Amino acid sequence: MLGFLLKTITAKKVKRPPLNNFSKAGLFALFTIFVLANFSARADQQPKPNALQSVKVQLNWHHQYQFAGFYAALQQGYYHQAGLKVELLPWRNNINPLDEVTSGRADFGVGVSSLITDFAKGSDIRLVMSAFQYSPLVLLSHKPISSLDALANTVVMHNGSIQIRMLLAKSGLAPNLQPREISSSGDLNDFISGKVDFYGAYLSNEPYQLEKLGVDYAILDPKNYGIQSYSGLIFTSGQLATKDPVMVKKFRDATIRGWAFAIKNPVEVTNYIVQNYPVNKSVTALIREASALKQYVQVGNIPIGDIDQPKINEILSTAQKLKLITPKEYQLALSKPIIFKPSSSVFNEEELAYIRAHKHFLVADLIDYPPFQFQQSNVTQGLIQDYLGKIEKIIGIPLVNQSSLPSSLASDSTAKENNVIYPAMTAIQANQESYLLSDAYLNFPMVLMGLNNSAGFIQDLHLLNGYTIAVRKNSFPHRYLHFHYPYIKLLLVDSIEDGLVQVQLHKAFAIADNLPALNYALNAFGYTNMQVIAQGIADFRFSMATTKENPILFSIINKALSQIDQSTRQEIYLKWLSQSNEFNYQRFWQVLTPLVILLAFMALLLAFNYRKQRYLSQIYELSYANMIDAKSMKINWTSDAFSKLSGYSKKELLNMPYLNLASDKIPHAQINEIYRQVIEKGKTWTGEIAAVRKDGEEYWVELTLMPSRNIFGKVTSVLATRVDISDRKKVEAISITDELTGLYNRRHFDDCLPNELKRASREEHGLCFVMLDLDYFKKINDDYGHQIGDEVLIEIATSINAYFNRANDFVFRIGGEEFFIITHFEKLRAFAVHLNNLLESVRCQKIENKNAPLGYLTISIGALYCSHDCLPNPQKILRYTDDLLYLSKKNGRNRSSFKVLQKALNSETKPTKEMLCEQYDFESFEDLMDSSYT
Ligand code: GH3
Ligand code: MG
Ligand code: MG
Repeated sequence: MLGFLLKTITAKKVKRPPLNNFSKAGLFALFTIFVLANFSARADQQPKPNALQSVKVQLNWHHQYQFAGFYAALQQGYYHQAGLKVELLPWRNNINPLDEVTSGRADFGVGVSSLITDFAKGSDIRLVMSAFQYSPLVLLSHKPISSLDALANTVVMHNGSIQIRMLLAKSGLAPNLQPREISSSGDLNDFISGKVDFYGAYLSNEPYQLEKLGVDYAILDPKNYGIQSYSGLIFTSGQLATKDPVMVKKFRDATIRGWAFAIKNPVEVTNYIVQNYPVNKSVTALIREASALKQYVQVGNIPIGDIDQPKINEILSTAQKLKLITPKEYQLALSKPIIFKPSSSVFNEEELAYIRAHKHFLVADLIDYPPFQFQQSNVTQGLIQDYLGKIEKIIGIPLVNQSSLPSSLASDSTAKENNVIYPAMTAIQANQESYLLSDAYLNFPMVLMGLNNSAGFIQDLHLLNGYTIAVRKNSFPHRYLHFHYPYIKLLLVDSIEDGLVQVQLHKAFAIADNLPALNYALNAFGYTNMQVIAQGIADFRFSMATTKENPILFSIINKALSQIDQSTRQEIYLKWLSQSNEFNYQRFWQVLTPLVILLAFMALLLAFNYRKQRYLSQIYELSYANMIDAKSMKINWTSDAFSKLSGYSKKELLNMPYLNLASDKIPHAQINEIYRQVIEKGKTWTGEIAAVRKDGEEYWVELTLMPSRNIFGKVTSVLATRVDISDRKKVEAISITDELTGLYNRRHFDDCLPNELKRASREEHGLCFVMLDLDYFKKINDDYGHQIGDEVLIEIATSINAYFNRANDFVFRIGGEEFFIITHFEKLRAFAVHLNNLLESVRCQKIENKNAPLGYLTISIGALYCSHDCLPNPQKILRYTDDLLYLSKKNGRNRSSFKVLQKALNSETKPTKEMLCEQYDFESFEDLMDSSYT
């Protein structure tokens, strides 16, 4: 056994197998010493395919990719297959999902880590799953920072979330250097304008907005400083979790399936979202959000949706340190179940009804069999009692010892016997005809204990033929020895203490019982002159039992028992059996005690290492990390995720010059600049860069190079982390719409204009072209901020789009605040009136622009009207409209200028196509209307 474990450990050093299995192996080994209970999980009851069960989910934000698991499960029919009809309740400003769920208005809600403190403060909720293994909440900073010292004397704007507060606390700055925290305004301009140094933002949202505006930023991510969080937590009420665990589990499983689909199929799910829900983000923005969130959904080997109790405990402990919860709330929260255990869905209708029909269940007394069950200070305690305690929690009603019932109720009746649980029966004890036995939940070796030096170590019990062995009456050793070794004389005693006395008095050669019970008794009575003289004879296997007459109670107990997980079992076990090492029990114990301690220690170590390693590797895998030696610029460590991303094996990557991974498209000057900043100046660098895979394929990443220095301040190594942004780049490349306004973009304009010209010639109809620019728009940005500027652009774009919405109208955003329209009007007059109406409608919107001459926003237009036989080429169209727009600006803005190109009346006499067309210029709408031309 020990050899096996050591082998496993040495194996680990060479190659890291998934730590998960490894830790389990350690615990498993520890358990096999004594506890080898085999709890076969029962197949879940099949769901009945009745009418769909209605389920309401309260979202905590506007519809967006953040909720993709739900949309995907709806779209793919996962909920339907689970018998659920799921409705997503939209979020509004004053809606708090916690209230919605605890009041029963919603069955499930979505929330963030603060739910954990809500729970500690008494909210009766259960966490069902977590869509994101970390919160995408980060701090934006104006320049990369290399240590938390950079927070000194800064202004940090955030919404008070635990992660950010913990990050600030982690900086360990002296009170006079502490950053000033101000609460979130929700206005990104506070960051852009430099009003605040750090700004709490979602990695999946704000960075994108900043990129669009061309604003430089860097990211300070709490999780890179070891700060734990969850996000996208789905929770339900304690009541619903208890009342309908089957539904909760089905909902959870279907949502997890949904997420698995959503991270693989962002385009499909995005289309579904925009088609079915009101979304105020563009398709591109949703796809970009999807690619940012993917890495939070699928992290390393963690199953999608997983919630880890130790991590919850860490968040609770953080919350306590930050005084968000009191020490008492903290302790209480640790003792209550916060995570929904789907396994509690095992009880069927009949069993639930049976439980509801009882105030309590009776448990047959065992008492006085320490450490299994015994009374101390009038309290019944022990291993078995702890198991009963856990079962009590699972079933939800008390288990009462028969002897503690008032005598009036305890009076015998056969009916009552059928309702009694026998907590520790061994198969050999039980009359198989009359009892139903659960799977064994405790398993210990039976040993013989005699006086020191009374015998050597006995290999074969037949050697004891004719000897007297003390056994408790009707106990397992009694039955076992009687049956298998009929020639051994048995001295029947009432208790272990009694038996030990008989051995001391030489009335019995040894006593037979199970190891922990004997150990405990020796401990308690202080006999130091005894030792184990035989072991490995048989195993005590304790089961819980009921009479055959009560199969429902039996099924309840057996299922409840199977819900107690390995770590709880180990905890109970160590609590009662780890007191053994105070005494020196010679021979057997000399061997056994160190073994127990060693195994327990190793198990602890493994569990600790496992957790730490799992955390670190998550971070590294999450970010495709590499470590680069600063001197040679070669890779000296790499993550699995990066190896997968780059297509190189880890072996190939080790010692590979880091620059081999960069695309040769990157200019030398840029590489030199990055090198100077990171290696020479020791500053963190972040930026988008093209990389190449082993097969030569190019892909885009957002690369972060974080130098670490030695004590002399010299950079020795660089941690490179990256975010794969190929998806975003691809989408950008094929997109024809502008993200901000939803209009067609410049790329599409370049394709569209020649095509429309060809079509118009072919179909012999004229075309009109309009170039449009906002007047004094810079002032809006300056006076009200970029974000308001953006909103104005959206508003104007919407107006223009509404004015030009016929089948062959095209509206483009061709520059920052420049728009272009391709349309068709038979009559020049109609075209001019239409544009005039547009100008008027923008004026009527009275969009404030206080420093513009009129005090509100206006637009200027350059308009070109062409008949089908006078269509110029694209360059000319642009030049004409641009010149006309310039003319409008020059003449005072808030107006339109026109050019008309039309077949000359005397065309027969003019030879070239150019000459066939006559030009008419009008400096204003009024000119055009006044003109005799119609
Ligand atoms: P004019 O009447 O001469 O057109 O004056 P103007 O202030 O509008 O000047 P101009 O057209 O040259 O300025 C355009 C400004 O629009 C510059 C830039 O800051 C701003 N801008 C460009 N794109 C965007 C954008 O996407 N969002 C915001 N908020 N501002 C933008
Ligand atoms: Mg302008
Ligand atoms: Mg402009």
